[in-house]
Amino acid sequence: METILFLAHVDEDGALSKAARETLAAAAALGRQLPGATLAAGLVAQGDAQPAADSLADCGATRFLAVTGEDFASARYATDAAAAEALARASGATLVLAPHTSRWARCLPGVAQRLGGRADTHVTAAGMESGAPAVTRWYYRQRIEGVSQRSQRPWFILLDPASGEAWQGAPGHAALETVAVAIGDGLRRTLFSGWRTPRSDRQTIRPEAALLLVAGAGWTKKQADGQTHADEAQRLILGFLDLAQASLGGSKSLVDLSGEGQAVLPFMTHLNQVGQTGSTPRHPKGLATCCHGEEPHVVGWRFINQRRAINLDPNCGWARGKADVLYVADAFAVMEQLNALLA
Ligand SMILES: Cc1cc2nc3c(=O)[nH]c(=O)nc-3n(C[C@H](O)[C@H](O)[C@H](O)COP(=O)(O)OP(=O)(O)OC[C@H]3O[C@@H](n4cnc5c(N)ncnc54)[C@H](O)[C@@H]3O)c2cc1C
Repeated sequence: METILFLAHVDEDGALSKAARETLAAAAALGRQLPGATLAAGLVAQGDAQPAADSLADCGATRFLAVTGEDFASARYATDAAAAEALARASGATLVLAPHTSRWARCLPGVAQRLGGRADTHVTAAGMESGAPAVTRWYYRQRIEGVSQRSQRPWFILLDPASGEAWQGAPGHAALETVAVAIGDGLRRTLFSGWRTPRSDRQTIRPEAALLLVAGAGWTKKQADGQTHADEAQRLILGFLDLAQASLGGSKSLVDLSGEGQAVLPFMTHLNQVGQTGSTPRHPKGLATCCHGEEPHVVGWRFINQRRAINLDPNCGWARGKADVLYVADAFAVMEQLNALLA
């Protein structure tokens, strides 16, 4: 019989992130499908974990465990691994589900190694196959989807954020058990010195947005009048982001131009790049503008449910089956109209 441990960090404000609650929903659903399985919640917090545990009181967990203390305030392999190991041991977990945050992804494969188990990262769903747990994962930059099972335990499963619905339930009282972890100076050698963010004058990446606007290099190209219109492009793109509260992606060509120091669209960084060598964001809708829709770019659109594109070229990549709707039009004119309608 499986013992499932839902593992999460408690945010600075004492709450659990959406990604954590999505993982909890997956863990609870898996527990319901596995005969005789029990569910435990394991929280790692800088401060008091009781409010977070109480918020999950109704999730079906039979045990609520917490590792707390200043040592767990920020990401550090040694202390994060020690906390996860202690919670996995204390719960006797055979299946550990955690959100695929950079913090968990860095340490959980190491914890699996310590416990003689296995880890799978970037999992998009956990379910059942032939009466046993199975996970779904994408391979080769989201081109192939595979389902796999493992006999080794404990099995650490890191679920990609935005892969499923977040758990919701009424708060109550959770009987929280504190798990002690001995943290010596040997585990504190790495020090957190602060945040460093890419040079950008505004936040353009919004993972929770309903729409992803993708800008391509066309915004920087000479237009019908023989001139480039970088200022106008900037006004239209930023205006749309503000009005629609959309997230911003970019094609590789465009972000490379910005990276090379050309003053094209200064708010565009490599973090915005979508595609084979960029990111695969998840949004219900996507709109590509002035971007050709080449295959290495479009693999980044795997998890965009509805794809639309605006391109002057009726033979662009989008026209060849890569977009649900292609507007053969001047993106400068369309976005101007769109912003006017939204305003
Ligand atoms: C190994 C490898 C990995 C790669 N990985 C990635 C990746 O991760 N992400 C990525 O994006 N690319 C990637 N690429 C590059 C990719 O193949 C393309 O070169 C790149 O995506 C092209 O960017 P673009 O469409 O913005 O620019 P372009 O190909 O220059 O296209 C610009 C488009 O803008 C249109 N346009 C111009 N003006 C207007 C207007 N006024 N209105 C409407 N349309 C207009 C033009 O018709 C044209 O189609 C990769 C390539 C390789 C070889």
